[in-house]
Amino acid sequence: MDVFKMMNKHSHEQVVFCNEPEIGLRAIIAIHDTSLGPSLGGCRFYNYQSDDDAMYDVLRLSRGMTYKASIAGLNLGGGKSVIIGNPETDKNEYLFRAFGRFVDGLGGRYITAEDMNTSVRDMEWVRNETQYVTGISRALGGSGDPSPVTALGVFVGIQAAFKTRRGSEDLNEVKVAVQGVGHVGYHICRLLHEAGAQLFVSDVNQLAVETIVEEFGATAVNGDEIYGLDVDVFAPCAMGAILNDKTIPQLKAEIIAGAANNQLAESKKHGEALLKRGILYAPDYAINAGGLINVANELEGYNRDRAFQQAEGIYDTLMAIFKTSEAQGIPTNVASDQLAEERIQQVAKIKTFYTSTTHRVFKRS
Ligand code: NAD
Repeated sequence: MDVFKMMNKHSHEQVVFCNEPEIGLRAIIAIHDTSLGPSLGGCRFYNYQSDDDAMYDVLRLSRGMTYKASIAGLNLGGGKSVIIGNPETDKNEYLFRAFGRFVDGLGGRYITAEDMNTSVRDMEWVRNETQYVTGISRALGGSGDPSPVTALGVFVGIQAAFKTRRGSEDLNEVKVAVQGVGHVGYHICRLLHEAGAQLFVSDVNQLAVETIVEEFGATAVNGDEIYGLDVDVFAPCAMGAILNDKTIPQLKAEIIAGAANNQLAESKKHGEALLKRGILYAPDYAINAGGLINVANELEGYNRDRAFQQAEGIYDTLMAIFKTSEAQGIPTNVASDQLAEERIQQVAKIKTFYTSTTHRVFKRS
C-alpha cells in the first residue's frame, strides 16, 4: 500500500492508524477535507480481507462525507473511520473506549458516529473517552434514530423532482415504487401515503412488506419486478449499485429519488445513462443527507424540530442541482459534485481572506 499516493489521489488531509494490540483494536481514521469545518462521519466495523481494502474503503467513504456535508449546507468536513474486525465477536467496551481515545487525540478534527455494524451503545462507550462523538441516545442528549429525518429529506426531494418534471409538488395519486421498507423506507411510505400517493413496495423481509401493505394500502411486488413497474417515481431504499447496465434499461419511472447510498453502480457511466434516458435522478448523497443533518444537530445541542426544519432544506438543494444539470446539460450527480466543490472552494477562499488561519483550498479531482 502506497499510503501517500492513495491520499494524494483525492487530496486527503490526514490518515490516522490506530493500534492497540492488547485490546485488539486496529482502526483507521481518514480526514478528507476540513475546509468547511471539523470532519464528521461514521465508524464502520468490518472484517476487511486486507489492510488495503480497509484503507481504500475509509478513503472513499471520507471523501463522500465531504461532498454530503457541503451539499447539505453544513459547516462540516468529511471524515470516516473503520475498525477492522468481526462485528459479531470482536465488539466490546474496551475496544470502543480505546478507539475513543484516538478520536479524542485529534482534538475535534474528526467527530465520529454510528455506521455499518456500529450502534448507539458502541458510541456511548466511545463517549466515555471523548466528546467528539454523535449518534448517542435521546436519553443522553443525543439525536437517536435518524430515519424519520432522512425520510423527510427524501420526501421533499421527491416533491422537488416532481415539481421539476410536472410543475407541481402534489403527490396525490402519484405512483411510487419503494425498494426496501426498513427504517427509512417505512417512514417514506408513511409520508407518501399521507400525501395520497399510490405505493408499490418490495423487500426481502416479507413481514416488513406486510406492514406497509396493511398500514398504507400498498401493493406488494416481487424482487426484481420493482425495476420495470409502470410508475412515476422509483425510490431505492435498500442496497447500493442498483442503478446499473441491467436495471437502467428496464426503468419506466421518470424520477429516481430514494435513500439508499451509492445507488449508481458506476457514477460517470450510469449518471450519463440516466440523463440519456430522460430520467431525473436525485443524487443519493444529496437527498439522503437528513441522517447527517440529524447527527450534526447534536453538536449545537440536539433539537428535533430544528433537525426536521433543516432536512426540509433538501428541497431547495435538489432544485439547485436540477437547475444546474439542465442549464449545463450534465448528469445530476455531476451537477451535485460541482455545487458541493464550489461551496468548499468559496468558503475556503473567504476564510483565507478574512482570517490569519491558513486553510487548505480544496482541489478538484
Ligand atoms: P434498513 O436495514 O432498516 O432497511 C433496509 C431494508 O432493505 C430492509 O428492510 C431489508 O430487508 C431491505 N432489503 C435488503 N435487501 C433487499 C433487496 N434485495 N430488495 C429489497 N429490499 C431489500 O436500512 P435503513 O436505515 O432503512 O437504510 C436504507 C438505505 O438508506 C441504506 O442504503 C442506508 O445506507 C441509507 N441511508 C439511511 C439513513 C438512515 O437515516 N437510516 C441515512 C442515509 C442513508
